[in-house]
Amino acid sequence: MAFRTCPLCEAACGLELTVRDDRIVAARGDREHVFSHGFLCPKGATFGELSADPDRLRRPLVRRGDQHVEVSWDEAFQAVEQGLRPIIDRYGPHAVALYLGNPNVHTMAGGLYLTPLLRTLGTRNIFSASTVDQMPKHVSCGYLYGNPLTIPVPDLDRTDLLLVLGANPWESNGSLATAADFPGRLKAIQARGGRFVVVDPRRTRTAEHADEHLFIRPGTDAFLLFGIVHTLFAEGLVELGGLAGHVTGVDEVRELADAFTPERVSAVCAVPVERIRGLARELAAAPTAAVYGRIGTCTVEFGTLTSWLVDVVNVLTGNLDRPGGVMFPLAAHVSPRPRAGGKGFRTGRWHSRVRGLPEVKGELPVATLADEIETPGDEQVRAFVTVAGNPVLSTPNSDRLDRALGGLDFMVSVDPYLNETTRHADVVLPPTDPARKGHYDFSFLALAVRNFAAYSPPVLPGDPASMDECDILARLTLIAAGQGAGTDPAVLHEQLLEQALQRAAAATGRAATELRTLVGGDHPAERLLDVALRIGAYGDRFGAHPDGLSLDRLLANPHGVDLGPLQPRLPEVLQTSSGKVELSGEPIAADVARLRAALGRDHADLVLVGRRHLRSNNSWMHNVPALVKGRDRCTLQVHPADADRLALTDGGDARVTSRAGTLSARVVVTDRVMPGVVSLPHGWGHGLAGTRMTVAAAHPGVNSNLLTDETVIDQLSGNSVLNGIPVEVKAEFAVTGRAGEVLT
Ligand code: SF4
Repeated sequence: MAFRTCPLCEAACGLELTVRDDRIVAARGDREHVFSHGFLCPKGATFGELSADPDRLRRPLVRRGDQHVEVSWDEAFQAVEQGLRPIIDRYGPHAVALYLGNPNVHTMAGGLYLTPLLRTLGTRNIFSASTVDQMPKHVSCGYLYGNPLTIPVPDLDRTDLLLVLGANPWESNGSLATAADFPGRLKAIQARGGRFVVVDPRRTRTAEHADEHLFIRPGTDAFLLFGIVHTLFAEGLVELGGLAGHVTGVDEVRELADAFTPERVSAVCAVPVERIRGLARELAAAPTAAVYGRIGTCTVEFGTLTSWLVDVVNVLTGNLDRPGGVMFPLAAHVSPRPRAGGKGFRTGRWHSRVRGLPEVKGELPVATLADEIETPGDEQVRAFVTVAGNPVLSTPNSDRLDRALGGLDFMVSVDPYLNETTRHADVVLPPTDPARKGHYDFSFLALAVRNFAAYSPPVLPGDPASMDECDILARLTLIAAGQGAGTDPAVLHEQLLEQALQRAAAATGRAATELRTLVGGDHPAERLLDVALRIGAYGDRFGAHPDGLSLDRLLANPHGVDLGPLQPRLPEVLQTSSGKVELSGEPIAADVARLRAALGRDHADLVLVGRRHLRSNNSWMHNVPALVKGRDRCTLQVHPADADRLALTDGGDARVTSRAGTLSARVVVTDRVMPGVVSLPHGWGHGLAGTRMTVAAAHPGVNSNLLTDETVIDQLSGNSVLNGIPVEVKAEFAVTGRAGEVLT
């Protein structure tokens, strides 16, 4: 029996694994886990299958002609050096682009070794999944709190009223709010007499269980939220409570909200006027309340404004940083700041070469990646590095990106699969499977709705033929640094440990040489974690606080260590230049003017939205038989009224066309979507030539990102717009007579 944290989504559940003969033969929820208490979803139950997937690459591949062939690790790194170095030497660092996929935030290697690689490459062309679905939240939090990683989460376990916008945590288990058993926590709100309300253009499973579900026209949550803000001011419901001394810009927000009366926004968002006012009154009157917005609020034209407004409502109702409202977690590897204030947050330190789009949080919008590859000129992207990403399926107008990747001079991918993206790579470097590496959630423990810490050592012994991801990233970094393909990755491991020890020495006032003798851990990542834990918020300060946390303490507690409910953290957590929550600033005000102008816009007759399913997260999960079995889930949901109007039949095929592309999909007629909205899930479109994902190829589905438009982005964050895409839908049959009458 072994225990470990599930690395497959943000919920960080504890798993209880049965191990036999170097294989995981069963996975169930760890009932003693301090955070998940035995909860498990179908994805976590397949952890053993994922680990042992026969399609998972175990040796590196090099492209020879149109084939990928296995080579030794030394050959693979030599091929990387021969492909990458001449491009850097001849065209400079910006000729190399890098894409980081979502799974990087689920690995220790991603948390510890990507920053050195990015810094060493020195390219401005860094792209990631963040500008696919979450950059608006980072940008709004950057402006409000001074740091784009300072994100408040709903205090689910104590709130009386939860308003959920554009999120389906009953199936996703939450995002940017780590909450194992999110459904159970929602039920608990109701059980203690509270309520939760869902606003979504689809009647999701979360909406089905809610006390109230309101349909909303896709992409218009900012209007609804401004209607709520307007009502709070108009009816004298603004009550900052204990926040009063920590907030600036309330009067500016009142002015910005002036035009957004419930009557005017209702015409745009399709939420009834009385419910807009009602929501404002209920949020203001509830003993505690929290507004939580996610994917559907970020992947839209006004994503940053919507994310900002979520927090504005939380502030104006006095619910920021108080129990039952939204609060700032304090993770074990994070050191609390001594005082409020900092440099604040800004974007645009550089701009993309072709479209002139501003840098945000050190990266450029992935919606412009194809432009940078295709457009000739100085600093044109000629080489591409991907780490755990499949942008050919996950980014807008992916057909164009797919073609662009075919024109690169060189591409290397760190990835366990030969998928729709990595099939273009000259070299594929597969990391060892998750059961053979340690796990600590650097990202998600900083977003957890209750403070806790857990470390999972490897469950299975190392495979001598495979390579640890930290070693892979270290060797790539050393190649980028010009130190040669054969340089021992221990060189970088040692540099990182020394840097960590210097930070620890500064924090403790002790000599780094002394602290080095006290560091625990067998693996380079474990040693870095131990240092971070020991000087972190609950750390043992290298023995000075014997009851504090260290790697050894986490190893001795395989079900995790509970660190208690979230605590108020204002003002210490604020890094704005004023040391306050800055509600208003020039970039936000300018974008509100754009939103105001959109009040009078016509809306499209039919728009496309995505949808999430419990058994799917990233595209690679479609290679697990247990997660794709059963009915086809990659279908086009259409409201009955639209089906009638468009002569679509349940089970028939439809041709869907947008500015970017066209595809065919099987129709499901359902009132789960509101009229004027059709829905396709994302991450599908498998079976392309050159891929090696047998199960996924047998369940290909269609790629919804053939329809999404790379030319439309959220202007403040550069985030892709993946929801609310104007589309035309036609029944697909050979010849028709009267509408709906199939002749052949
Ligand atoms: S909810 Fe997420 S973390 Fe929990 S078992 Fe499922 S995939 Fe794993």
